[in-house]
Amino acid sequence: MKKEEIKKIIIIVVCVAILVSIIMLIKGCDSTKSDLKKIGYSKDEINTIIEKLNDEEITKILNMEYNENLVNIINEQYYIPYNLDRYLSYANKNENIKDVISIVNVGADNEWYTNTKETNIDEGIKMLVNKFHYLKEDYSPDDIVPISNWYAYEGHSTKKEVYDKYVSMWEAANKEGLTLLVNSSYRTFEDQQNEYDISNDDYASRPGFSEHQTGLALDIVTYDIIGNEFENTDEFKWLQENAHLYGFILRYPKGKEYITGYNYESWHYRYVGKELATKVKESGLTYDEYYAYYCEYKKAC
Ligand SMILES: [Zn+2]
Repeated sequence: MKKEEIKKIIIIVVCVAILVSIIMLIKGCDSTKSDLKKIGYSKDEINTIIEKLNDEEITKILNMEYNENLVNIINEQYYIPYNLDRYLSYANKNENIKDVISIVNVGADNEWYTNTKETNIDEGIKMLVNKFHYLKEDYSPDDIVPISNWYAYEGHSTKKEVYDKYVSMWEAANKEGLTLLVNSSYRTFEDQQNEYDISNDDYASRPGFSEHQTGLALDIVTYDIIGNEFENTDEFKWLQENAHLYGFILRYPKGKEYITGYNYESWHYRYVGKELATKVKESGLTYDEYYAYYCEYKKAC
């Protein structure tokens, strides 16, 4: 055989192989489509499923009955693929799919303080401490400094970086005629144990689960103000607009109790640094939700 002829044959064989592959691919896709149709999914739903789920996930769907929540779930902005099973089972108990996504992402489809994980302290100012992420008993930050009584009630301390940023924030607020005052700050595991012992789950975190043990949380109020009366003050309004510029976020917002596990606390601020605080504020998410989606899943926070 001539060289030319061999070349021709090879080209024909390759073309036929490509053609066969394409036909098989289309057929495979068609059979997936018709299988999904048999279960009860509409044309639009099928297109979304094929576009957004991988083969393994589609196989799982094919082994289940029709689920009316499925497409709504995978179309949600904060959908995380590895949570699909939990979304589907939690969606049966809850009609609001946005809530289902938030609750499952932060782990609140479990009882508070169950399925807990140790906090990754290597993340520094970004570390997450909540009712599912705890600090060990022996964890104590290494650069805790006292807070001057000029800026706080007596006997408070926090991490050096947090202190410096708090003082800048205090001064900026003070220029507007406002006075911020810290009335709770760094707490050791033992401090939290004592607080918890005289209280209960509604009013105190369990030891190891308090953000105050990170040295990154400050309870900020002003003179003669107790509890959520603080939200009616000019100091609170100022913090709402400016705290992120100094790296602080309101950690337990109103109406997000089912995600944070905490009653609304207008006074509890968490330091995460200016860049992250700005992103969290702009997202409108709680830090628990933001962390689950951007830090843990997207690895971009
Ligand atoms: Zn607090």
